[in-house]
Amino acid sequence: MDRRYSDREGSPPRQHISKLAFLLAGILIAVTSASLLFVGYVASQASDRQAISNEKRLFQHTLENQKHQMIQEQLKVSHSDQSVRNIVRTFDYDFVRDQIRGLWKDYSYNKVLIIASGNQVFAESFEDYTHIINRPLKETPGYLPLVDKARALFMSNRVRIPGGYSHRSLQGLEPPQYAAIGFIEIDDKPALATAMPIVPDQDTVTLPAGQPVILVAAKFIDDDMLAGLNAQLSFIDLTFLRDVIAAPESPSHFVRDANGKPLGSFSWESRALGSSIWPTVIPIVLALSLLLAVLAFGIAWRIGRLTSSLQASERQNHHLAMHDTLSGLANRLQFNRVLKSATANLPASPFAIIHCDLDKFKSVNDTYGHAAGDTVIKAVAQRMAEIVGKGGLVARLGGDEFVILHRSFTDHGRLTLLSGQLIGAVEAPIPLDNGETAEIGLSIGIVTAPDCGSTPEGLMAAADDALYYSKENGRGQAAFARDIKHLFAMSVNGTEEDHTSDAA
Ligand code: GH3
Ligand code: MG
Repeated sequence: MDRRYSDREGSPPRQHISKLAFLLAGILIAVTSASLLFVGYVASQASDRQAISNEKRLFQHTLENQKHQMIQEQLKVSHSDQSVRNIVRTFDYDFVRDQIRGLWKDYSYNKVLIIASGNQVFAESFEDYTHIINRPLKETPGYLPLVDKARALFMSNRVRIPGGYSHRSLQGLEPPQYAAIGFIEIDDKPALATAMPIVPDQDTVTLPAGQPVILVAAKFIDDDMLAGLNAQLSFIDLTFLRDVIAAPESPSHFVRDANGKPLGSFSWESRALGSSIWPTVIPIVLALSLLLAVLAFGIAWRIGRLTSSLQASERQNHHLAMHDTLSGLANRLQFNRVLKSATANLPASPFAIIHCDLDKFKSVNDTYGHAAGDTVIKAVAQRMAEIVGKGGLVARLGGDEFVILHRSFTDHGRLTLLSGQLIGAVEAPIPLDNGETAEIGLSIGIVTAPDCGSTPEGLMAAADDALYYSKENGRGQAAFARDIKHLFAMSVNGTEEDHTSDAA
């Protein structure tokens, strides 16, 4: 059927709904996945920061333990009546050597000093060799802050007893209350050192008045110390970086010497970095995204399906509303719409209405049955459509009544020729299902617009009159409304009933 006669007003943009649903599903998945990854990233950063902060706390704790342990180790020498007797009261070289060697052998102290009042160094160890000397401490000023601190602590803890002085019981005292400990530089090497006054533990001997004798013991921050610290920590690549002030948030512990001068940083590779939460986050994000993708695309697919079936059903409904179910031709509704739009285009686009009715069709029904009548209607519809082709719209108005809105020509001659073709085609025998053939005829009434009218009603009435005329005058022929006008007027007792009075 020629599209020119279609009154469809374009299908709604439903196909976009499906695309939109898929697009939204895609955006939803992308946004959700990105959000999950962002949350994962933020969580991973927070978890890394927390892990590093835990490691720093752990390191600090271990370092405190190390300091306390050093104090405990030195107490064996510094907190002893025997030491007071053999180092403070008299200076027994062998005793001093033994004690210092003990500290080196048992606890691997790299440096031990005995400092008498007046800041004179009486003994100094070099590895396991103890040098008994008498040199001023200021030659190695790194020790001074610790020594001064130890002296001050001693003064605050010194107690007077009969015959001299003693020291408050260490029971109930915290190590920082009686021992100075801190990082210092010895021979240009960083070390951890303690300084403690030599005091009695049993009070079988008294201390003389005046400054105490100070025991200083130090361990270099070397591989041994790092290994000792790391025995409890199991950190990765624990090291000490001289003169490096590590960033506060990095896995490190920054230290100053006893004078407050930056010394360097303990530093390690955090387990948190690298062993992040990504291995956990990524599979969860993937699983959730996949689940979401299945859900969202599933819904989008359903929407697409629904939209397609709605479109198909809408197309079908439209087709049913506009077509005759038996013949497949346009129905009255479609014909009326097309006719209306054709008259709206007058006079620019002239057209003709060819109104047809089968002759003696009832007898087919009567003779061969209603089904055979249907077969005849279908055959007639097909033959008419073939002859008219793209030149016009063929419609079945109902029963055995057909109408053609013809546009490609409107002249009398060619319309007469076309009518002859139509009548000839319908008169040709029509084979029936039962093997027999039906023979019928066709009567036609033709009206042309705008010359015979310009309203749908007027034109249809004129075509009907012309058809009536054909029927009345023997059937099997075509009559033009224009030709019968006069004759028709005569037949109604001289009263002119002009159906084409609206003609241009
Ligand atoms: P005329 O030559 O005067 O037109 O007479 P006719 O026998 O063709 O009868 P008429 O046009 O007055 O009536 C048409 C008949 O067509 C009436 C009805 O029984 C029959 N008919 C109407 N619709 C259908 C249909 O869908 N199928 C069949 N088989 N018959 C139909
Ligand atoms: Mg008829």
